[in-house]
Amino acid sequence: MILISSCMAGLATRYDGNDAHVEQLDQLLQAGKAVLVCPEQLGGLPTPRPPAEIVGGDGYDVLDGKASVIDINGCDVTEEFLKGAQQTLKLALSVGAKQAVLKEHSPSCGSSFIYNGTFRGEKKDGVGVTTALLERNGIRVISEDDIDLDNL
Ligand code: SF4
Repeated sequence: MILISSCMAGLATRYDGNDAHVEQLDQLLQAGKAVLVCPEQLGGLPTPRPPAEIVGGDGYDVLDGKASVIDINGCDVTEEFLKGAQQTLKLALSVGAKQAVLKEHSPSCGSSFIYNGTFRGEKKDGVGVTTALLERNGIRVISEDDIDLDNL
Protein backbone atom coordinates (compact mmCIF):
# COMPACT_ATOMS: atom_id res chain seq x y z
CA MET A 1 0.00 0.00 0.00
CA ILE A 2 1.03 3.59 -0.67
CA LEU A 3 0.03 6.59 1.42
CA ILE A 4 -1.26 9.54 -0.60
CA SER A 5 -2.00 13.08 0.56
CA SER A 6 -5.79 13.22 0.53
CA CYS A 7 -5.83 16.65 -1.12
CA MET A 8 -4.10 15.13 -4.15
CA ALA A 9 -6.81 12.48 -4.40
CA GLY A 10 -9.36 15.26 -4.83
CA LEU A 11 -10.57 15.65 -1.26
CA ALA A 12 -11.03 19.23 -0.07
CA THR A 13 -8.65 18.96 2.89
CA ARG A 14 -6.32 21.88 2.15
CA TYR A 15 -6.03 24.79 4.55
CA ASP A 16 -8.15 26.90 2.20
CA GLY A 17 -10.87 24.27 1.89
CA ASN A 18 -9.86 23.27 -1.64
CA ASP A 19 -8.24 20.16 -3.08
CA ALA A 20 -5.03 19.78 -5.07
CA HIS A 21 -6.13 16.92 -7.31
CA VAL A 22 -3.42 15.08 -9.24
CA GLU A 23 -5.10 12.94 -11.89
CA GLN A 24 -2.02 10.76 -12.28
CA LEU A 25 -2.75 9.27 -8.85
CA ASP A 26 -6.30 8.16 -9.68
CA GLN A 27 -4.92 4.95 -11.15
CA LEU A 28 -3.43 3.93 -7.80
CA LEU A 29 -6.69 4.69 -6.05
CA GLN A 30 -8.76 2.73 -8.52
CA ALA A 31 -6.39 -0.22 -8.20
CA GLY A 32 -6.94 -0.22 -4.43
CA LYS A 33 -3.26 0.42 -3.77
CA ALA A 34 -3.59 3.75 -1.99
CA VAL A 35 -4.55 4.90 1.49
CA LEU A 36 -5.48 8.56 1.84
CA VAL A 37 -4.24 10.69 4.69
CA CYS A 38 -4.31 14.34 5.73
CA PRO A 39 -1.89 14.78 8.62
CA GLU A 40 -3.17 18.21 9.56
CA GLN A 41 -6.73 16.95 9.92
CA LEU A 42 -5.47 13.93 11.87
CA GLY A 43 -3.69 16.37 14.16
CA GLY A 44 -7.03 17.90 15.05
CA LEU A 45 -6.90 21.07 12.95
CA PRO A 46 -10.09 22.29 11.27
CA THR A 47 -10.71 22.73 7.54
CA PRO A 48 -10.49 25.44 6.40
CA ARG A 49 -7.69 26.55 8.75
CA PRO A 50 -5.15 29.38 8.78
CA PRO A 51 -2.05 28.59 6.68
CA ALA A 52 0.98 27.57 8.73
CA GLU A 53 4.71 27.48 8.07
CA ILE A 54 7.72 26.01 9.85
CA VAL A 55 9.78 28.69 11.56
CA GLY A 56 13.41 28.07 12.45
CA GLY A 57 14.12 24.94 10.45
CA ASP A 58 12.31 22.11 8.73
CA GLY A 59 10.33 19.03 9.74
CA TYR A 60 13.35 17.25 11.22
CA ASP A 61 14.03 20.27 13.42
CA VAL A 62 10.40 20.28 14.57
CA LEU A 63 10.72 16.59 15.53
CA ASP A 64 13.86 17.46 17.49
CA GLY A 65 12.23 20.40 19.29
CA LYS A 66 14.44 22.95 17.50
CA ALA A 67 11.77 24.59 15.30
CA SER A 68 8.07 25.38 15.54
CA VAL A 69 5.03 25.45 13.28
CA ILE A 70 3.28 28.80 13.45
CA ASP A 71 0.10 29.84 11.67
CA ILE A 72 -0.41 33.16 9.92
CA ASN A 73 -2.13 34.55 13.02
CA GLY A 74 0.91 33.76 15.16
CA CYS A 75 -0.60 30.70 16.89
CA ASP A 76 1.80 27.86 17.65
CA VAL A 77 0.38 24.69 16.07
CA THR A 78 3.47 22.54 16.56
CA GLU A 79 1.65 20.04 18.79
CA GLU A 80 -1.10 19.52 16.21
CA PHE A 81 1.48 18.97 13.46
CA LEU A 82 3.39 16.48 15.61
CA LYS A 83 0.20 14.62 16.47
CA GLY A 84 -0.75 14.49 12.79
CA ALA A 85 2.65 13.09 11.90
CA GLN A 86 2.41 10.44 14.61
CA GLN A 87 -1.08 9.43 13.53
CA THR A 88 0.06 9.22 9.91
CA LEU A 89 2.97 6.97 10.89
CA LYS A 90 0.57 4.77 12.84
CA LEU A 91 -1.63 4.45 9.77
CA ALA A 92 1.36 3.68 7.54
CA LEU A 93 2.54 0.94 9.87
CA SER A 94 -0.93 -0.53 10.24
CA VAL A 95 -1.33 -0.99 6.47
CA GLY A 96 2.29 -1.92 5.83
CA ALA A 97 2.97 1.11 3.62
CA LYS A 98 6.60 1.48 2.60
CA GLN A 99 6.12 4.51 0.35
CA ALA A 100 4.15 7.73 0.34
CA VAL A 101 3.30 10.34 -2.28
CA LEU A 102 2.79 13.58 -0.39
CA LYS A 103 2.09 17.16 -1.46
CA GLU A 104 5.17 19.26 -2.11
CA HIS A 105 5.67 22.57 -0.23
CA SER A 106 3.32 21.69 2.64
CA PRO A 107 4.67 22.12 6.19
CA SER A 108 3.37 18.60 6.85
CA CYS A 109 3.78 16.85 3.53
CA GLY A 110 6.64 18.57 1.65
CA SER A 111 9.51 16.28 0.71
CA SER A 112 11.99 18.63 -1.01
CA PHE A 113 10.78 22.19 -0.49
CA ILE A 114 8.73 24.02 2.13
CA TYR A 115 7.79 27.66 2.68
CA ASN A 116 10.44 29.52 4.61
CA GLY A 117 8.40 30.74 7.57
CA THR A 118 7.96 34.34 6.44
CA PHE A 119 4.50 33.94 4.84
CA ARG A 120 5.77 35.74 1.75
CA GLY A 121 5.38 32.77 -0.58
CA GLU A 122 9.12 32.09 -0.46
CA LYS A 123 10.36 28.50 -0.44
CA LYS A 124 13.48 26.79 0.85
CA ASP A 125 14.96 23.29 0.81
CA GLY A 126 13.47 21.11 3.51
CA VAL A 127 10.78 18.59 4.42
CA GLY A 128 7.51 18.79 6.30
CA VAL A 129 6.91 17.36 9.77
CA THR A 130 5.06 14.24 8.63
CA THR A 131 7.58 13.54 5.89
CA ALA A 132 10.41 13.78 8.40
CA LEU A 133 8.77 11.30 10.76
CA LEU A 134 7.90 8.84 7.98
CA GLU A 135 11.43 8.96 6.57
CA ARG A 136 12.97 8.47 10.01
CA ASN A 137 10.92 5.30 10.19
CA GLY A 138 12.05 3.94 6.83
CA ILE A 139 9.10 5.02 4.71
CA ARG A 140 10.13 6.59 1.40
CA VAL A 141 8.37 9.86 0.61
CA ILE A 142 8.16 11.42 -2.84
CA SER A 143 6.10 14.32 -4.15
CA GLU A 144 3.66 14.73 -7.01
CA ASP A 145 6.61 16.02 -9.04
CA ASP A 146 8.39 12.67 -8.88
CA ILE A 147 5.63 10.17 -9.58
CA ASP A 148 6.76 7.17 -11.58
CA LEU A 149 3.81 4.79 -11.59
CA ASP A 150 5.97 1.88 -12.77
CA ASN A 151 8.03 2.16 -9.59
CA LEU A 152 5.21 2.54 -7.08
FE1 SF4 B 1 -2.84 17.95 1.71
FE2 SF4 B 1 -0.95 17.27 3.47
FE3 SF4 B 1 -2.04 19.68 3.57
FE4 SF4 B 1 -3.50 17.59 4.29
S1 SF4 B 1 -1.67 18.30 5.31
S2 SF4 B 1 -4.17 19.22 2.94
S3 SF4 B 1 -2.75 16.04 2.88
S4 SF4 B 1 -0.80 18.86 1.90
